[in-house]
Amino acid sequence: MLEKVVIANRGEIALRVQRACREMGIKTVAVHSTADNNLKHVLLADETVCIGPPASAESYLNMPAIISAAEVTDAVAVHPCYGFLSENADFADRVESSGFIFIGPPASAIRLMGDKVSAIQAMKAAGVPCVPGSDGPLGDDPDENMRIARDIGYPIIIKASGGGGGRGMRVVHAEASLIAAITVTKAEARAAFSNDVVYMEKYLERPRHVEFQVLADSHGNAVYLGERDCSMQRRHQKVIEEAPAPGITEEQRKRIGERCVKACKEIGYRSAGTFEFLFQDGEFYFIEMNTRLQVEHPVTEMITGIDIVREQLQIAAGEKLSFKQNDVKILGHAIECRINAEDPKTFMPSPGLINLWHAPGGPGIRVDSHIYSGYKVPPFYDSMIGKVIAHGGNRDAAVARMKIALSEIVIEGIKTNVPLHQEIFQHAAFQKGGTDIHYLEKRLGLV
Ligand code: ADP
Repeated sequence: MLEKVVIANRGEIALRVQRACREMGIKTVAVHSTADNNLKHVLLADETVCIGPPASAESYLNMPAIISAAEVTDAVAVHPCYGFLSENADFADRVESSGFIFIGPPASAIRLMGDKVSAIQAMKAAGVPCVPGSDGPLGDDPDENMRIARDIGYPIIIKASGGGGGRGMRVVHAEASLIAAITVTKAEARAAFSNDVVYMEKYLERPRHVEFQVLADSHGNAVYLGERDCSMQRRHQKVIEEAPAPGITEEQRKRIGERCVKACKEIGYRSAGTFEFLFQDGEFYFIEMNTRLQVEHPVTEMITGIDIVREQLQIAAGEKLSFKQNDVKILGHAIECRINAEDPKTFMPSPGLINLWHAPGGPGIRVDSHIYSGYKVPPFYDSMIGKVIAHGGNRDAAVARMKIALSEIVIEGIKTNVPLHQEIFQHAAFQKGGTDIHYLEKRLGLV
């Protein structure tokens, strides 16, 4: 097993990874910025190393500082969690060339999937269904681009191959605005991602976001752990996630899951990963792969009983997956609410001192959070301060448990989005399940 792991992240996910390490007898090194001395996982770590000032660019994104921390503490591996350097192929390369294990996929797989055009090409080759589109980068010939768009049929979406985080995309409804939209998206992509390759896809107007969790080891074994529905979004940020996705049949799960597993084997994938799809009118369309652990991984853990982080650590140590596809059974339903330190109406961040924190509990409730009474949420990072997960025998039971959990939460001193969650849980459309990705923004009157 790995003896000592550097956790190159902060907040709830650093604590989540640390918990798995401690359970497995692995020592942890918490690397943190000067703003994060009092993070819960820092206080619980075997060793801590301050890697820089509050600004992420100088701390959590500071590759030499993180690698030096691994060196001075004699760690053997680095877990990047999500965000920050987790999908940075150069970081994975540098970790490995410095003699440490990167707890994630090979850098080559991160690179392949980080470029959307090459990712789509690889997925098509593996038989994963993709959105009808330009089959590669758009050239400079306006007539040819108009022909491609006409063949696909409007509306279409122009997307930057190097884009991420919901940026670098533009929807086009009619031919008159096509050429200008391509030019602008290219310019933006060049400025934001230093890569002006753009491509075109059919724009799906009312899709759901359904994603498949996979795990792959370094011995050629891969499995899928079913799917999650993450359609409840605001500004492309997921707010509520659940598993399984309402209405997805066992046949659909198996068909798409098997394609994802095949794709993993073909691209030499390793560790945990997520294939994201848009789902509309009974069809799945691949949009991208996340080559890391996801925020919403707990809902999958709750319905499968599989500890995804433990598997990541075992895979990184060179072990084989501890179970086979047939062993994966879906039990009940799980829902996750992301708790953010923000105003529930204006969404303005609300950092500051938490005077009082009382966590919800009871059957089927899991709380992944690093906050405590007396903890001060710093203003420098993402506003998510934790996640509440409710598991029940079926969706209604999970919903009922989450409603109780939300009513029990006490967070005093800062504002949170708990009232927003409580409101969503009253919506008839949410209770029914299967709302599309635009539902929340429409309902909030934002579009
Ligand atoms: P990013 O890497 O920025 O997250 P994605 O390719 O995952 O980019 O797209 C982000 C979001 O943009 C999707 O979740 C969806 O809401 C929207 N989107 C992307 N492609 C399409 C499409 N072809 N049709 C409709 N919406 C799309």
